[in-house]
Amino acid sequence: MNVRQNLLRADNKLLNYPIREVVTIGKQLEKLGNLSMVWENIGDPITAGEQMPEWIKEIVRENSVTDKVFAYTDTRGYLPTREFVLKNFSNEKICTVDDILFFNGLGEAINKVINNLPREARILVPSPTYPSHATAEAMHAGCSFISYNLDPENDWEPNLEEIENKVKYNDHVVAILVINPNNPTGRVFKRETLEAIVKIAKDHDCFLIFDEIYHSMVFDGVENVLLHEIIGDVPGISMKGISKDVPWPGSRCGWIEVYNSEKDAEFHDFINMILLAKMLEVCSTTLPQMVLPHIYSSPKFKDYLQGRIEKYHRRAEQAVAFFEQIPQVRVSMPGGVFYFVVQLLDLPRSQLSATTKASRLYLNELLSEKLVAPDFQFTYELMASEAICVVPLSGFGSSLNGFRMTLLQ
Ligand code: PLP
Repeated sequence: MNVRQNLLRADNKLLNYPIREVVTIGKQLEKLGNLSMVWENIGDPITAGEQMPEWIKEIVRENSVTDKVFAYTDTRGYLPTREFVLKNFSNEKICTVDDILFFNGLGEAINKVINNLPREARILVPSPTYPSHATAEAMHAGCSFISYNLDPENDWEPNLEEIENKVKYNDHVVAILVINPNNPTGRVFKRETLEAIVKIAKDHDCFLIFDEIYHSMVFDGVENVLLHEIIGDVPGISMKGISKDVPWPGSRCGWIEVYNSEKDAEFHDFINMILLAKMLEVCSTTLPQMVLPHIYSSPKFKDYLQGRIEKYHRRAEQAVAFFEQIPQVRVSMPGGVFYFVVQLLDLPRSQLSATTKASRLYLNELLSEKLVAPDFQFTYELMASEAICVVPLSGFGSSLNGFRMTLLQ
């Protein structure tokens, strides 16, 4: 066996992160087409041009010069911050400070959680999904995950019968993943939906993974139900972080809250595996953990966040009103977050054309290279012609055509 050939595993189709992969192509089209690309692909408010307020910078500056910031933290994370998280974000009836674990970004938490499952275990993952969840599973298992559909004709709510059947008829399913509020669709799921998913998990002995990184980014008038409010005695994990609401994505700081771990021995063992895996890495970066309580408890934080949410809400209404006029697409009003999905119902013959000969040649090469999904083709053409970079919906593990845009600019 030629082991070196296996180094090409990174080229495996299962490993992909289209949110960033489109950038490589976008940069090339930008250069060859003499364009200035509008980057609508990535959920980073700061890169999109938002200013970090001076009061947050001041908190970071003050903490940067304390001695403790130069030290390691506990493997689980900085204790005072875990205490703060427990009190302010979690539920002390089902969680203790030892059930809060910090990671270098939620991206790392996702990988640690999923890659520490036994190989034969399966997680039900939504389609469309945030790609890391599905790809992390593919990485560890080298195989397919099981997806359940979010329905664009029903404002992206899932079909509960489909979830129940997939859990019931597959013994390998150990967990159900829910991303709420949702990336990429912006949907904030209904209370009944979430309660029904908790019931399915309870009835079929699964645990729950709720990615709640957008938990505080919900539009006015929309109810957001958190996992810890409805989980009861089912084992589960909530995932949160500071990349979106603070917004400090460059901090690489996220955490998990583990619920009811004492009530299920196998789940408890699994969480210990994650802790051991984190121990091998020592701990996560100290500075953002030390700064986090100061930012969230500042009297300025609430108004600052509210101002941003109102801005995204206005933009979402404008974007939806615009796309609703186009018969070939379907959109639904997000309930929060800063993304929305445009579903392409009828992909018209492209009227988009590249701006220069060089970018036309590059585009032709891209499109003839391998099997390119229709919405990837649309995305490349949109970049070459209109200098707008979005992410194809099929890049979120969906069989539907469309794209995700941000509301960040
Ligand atoms: N989960 C979801 C749903 C996300 O959208 C993102 C980032 O966009 C992450 C996790 C990763 O967040 P982090 O920046 O903390 O790694």
